[in-house]
Amino acid sequence: MTQTPFVEIRHAQKSYGTLEVLRDVNLTVNRGEIVAIIGPSGSGKSTLLRAINDLDPLSAGEVLLEGVQVNKTLPPRAYEAHINEMRQHIGMVFQHFNLFPHLTVRQNVTMAPKLLKRLGEAEANRLAEEQLAHVGMLERIDYYPSQLSGGQKQRVAIARALAMKPKLMLFDEATSALDPELVEEVNQVMKRLAEEHMTMIIVTHEMDFAASVCDRVIFMDGGVVVEEGPPSVVFRTPTQERTRNFLRKYL
Ligand code: ADP
Ligand code: MG
Repeated sequence: MTQTPFVEIRHAQKSYGTLEVLRDVNLTVNRGEIVAIIGPSGSGKSTLLRAINDLDPLSAGEVLLEGVQVNKTLPPRAYEAHINEMRQHIGMVFQHFNLFPHLTVRQNVTMAPKLLKRLGEAEANRLAEEQLAHVGMLERIDYYPSQLSGGQKQRVAIARALAMKPKLMLFDEATSALDPELVEEVNQVMKRLAEEHMTMIIVTHEMDFAASVCDRVIFMDGGVVVEEGPPSVVFRTPTQERTRNFLRKYL
């Protein structure tokens, strides 16, 4: 029996003008799998991640979530309904938190469930409390983002994404903007999600984290997947010269 891949990226191609940022990227992720994407700056990692929920639409190629094409071509109204539905299943956490500064932690977390899932105040609050407790931020529920450290903001951003009960979580250098002493508290939250079998695609420069948490590592360079495999193989015995050159900088 062949199983439909949980996430499938087929022949992804993306150009900005004459700059080809993704060149025929193919990738499948299984349910519960934790995949790290590593590679030099400018290699197309963020573009690929943002293509998954069609924030950065591909120039060509397909993204499928559980066999359903995310980047469907549809008339505007139909596309909007379709993409809103798909994005509810895909949580995303960025480098720069992207919390709404004028809203409290509670309001940040309850907003999408209220708007998109039409939850009432009480249920949205219950959900927010549950998710904030999960990331150790319940005590700060009535604070504003400006009153939080970077690590705390990022934990709130993760709780906000989780409040939509996504099937897939995308992390784009979630710890890159943090002071070193704050990285671990965010990594701990991601580790816990991994233990709970959340399917995750994680763009990261933290090779130790990738090695200890991820099932598979994808090395991208110049808009292509150069090499992929289990961390124990890619990190210890990379087969490609480009991978070796890149990893040398992290040893
Ligand atoms: P990475 O995340 O691996 O650092 P990106 O996906 O952000 O790489 O970028 C890949 C390439 O695409 C870079 O050369 C970048 O300058 C270019 N790029 C990204 N976004 C845009 C954009 N909106 N317009 C033009 N070029 C872009
Ligand atoms: Mg990037």
